[in-house]
Amino acid sequence: MAQEVRGVVAPGKDEPVRIETIVVPDPGPGEAVVKIQACGVCHTDLHYKQGGISDDFPFLLGHEAAGVVESVGTGVTDVAPGDFVVLNWRAVCGKCRACTRGRPWYCFDTHNAEQKMTLASTGQELSPALGIGAFAEKTLVAAGQCTKVDPAVSAEVAGLLGCGVMAGIGAAINTGNVGRGDTVAVIGCGGVGDAAIAGSHLAGAAKVIAVDIDDRKLETARSMGATHTVNSRETDPVEAIRELTGGFGADVVIEAVGRPETYRQAFYARDLAGTVVLVGVPTPEMKLELPLLDVFGRGGSLKSSWYGDCLPSRDFPMLVDLHLQGRLDLGKFVTETVGLDQVEHAFDRMHAGDVLRSVVVL
Ligand SMILES: [Zn+2]
Ligand SMILES: [Zn+2]
Repeated sequence: MAQEVRGVVAPGKDEPVRIETIVVPDPGPGEAVVKIQACGVCHTDLHYKQGGISDDFPFLLGHEAAGVVESVGTGVTDVAPGDFVVLNWRAVCGKCRACTRGRPWYCFDTHNAEQKMTLASTGQELSPALGIGAFAEKTLVAAGQCTKVDPAVSAEVAGLLGCGVMAGIGAAINTGNVGRGDTVAVIGCGGVGDAAIAGSHLAGAAKVIAVDIDDRKLETARSMGATHTVNSRETDPVEAIRELTGGFGADVVIEAVGRPETYRQAFYARDLAGTVVLVGVPTPEMKLELPLLDVFGRGGSLKSSWYGDCLPSRDFPMLVDLHLQGRLDLGKFVTETVGLDQVEHAFDRMHAGDVLRSVVVL
């Protein structure tokens, strides 16, 4: 039987979000219905609401979530009702050219649930944010979007691994391959940048230099493991990073802003043969100009990090375990917990830079 539950819907471009009754169908083949326990408020949800991602309104927002599997459709073997799971937005296919070459974290054919959730009032189909839609009491996803983790972790912490925190930690440990003794600089200290700092610290970086224009964010970055901070409104970050690394630049520079000017800073703040990781998401009109001779002459690698190049089945349980062992404090990312009816307020707080993460608890 399809069920009716409450969910946060963005009805149209720049219109305030509304709590609506939504219809969640029973899971079809390969699908699962998940009872949501917590879901973080991410910039991507705000972009959906503003019409910055697509025009497929109405959107069912929310995608950084954890909860318990309620029911599964036929053919689902990896998860079962009662499993505590973190939702991911890249359920790998196992068949594409990346998957068959043993690189499923690059999967080129990730999938979501085939059935649609709808608005109870009009029957209109909903577009779930990143194929998840978890500002709702329950949501329908592809079973591959559910990753089982140790249920000893709190849902509000676990859910964050589903997006921004994984993107940042993965940018450091997967894409950037930060290792013991490396010097790292992170440009942009929002949720993703802070997670990159925490990931670099976890990986044993000798120095982690945080760069931002907001002193409050630099303060938080320190608590995440930054050893040095640079306010790039006051100081040239390229010079500052070079100065802090013996005049050479950092081994790995993680760009968590997604703008040409900060990318250029990252490019020149890295040591010869170093690595730049772009994890900040640019907009379509942005262009990058660099002297090609510098791209050649400085060597090393310029990489982009999709979702932290994570493999949820490998990375989510590992990071939850490290958190439970006290080796990675994911609790620091949760600034506040709010109710389903406070998403609009949480957007304002996020936009003002007052919170790292507000988490909706159901
Ligand atoms: Zn694939
Ligand atoms: Zn997100």
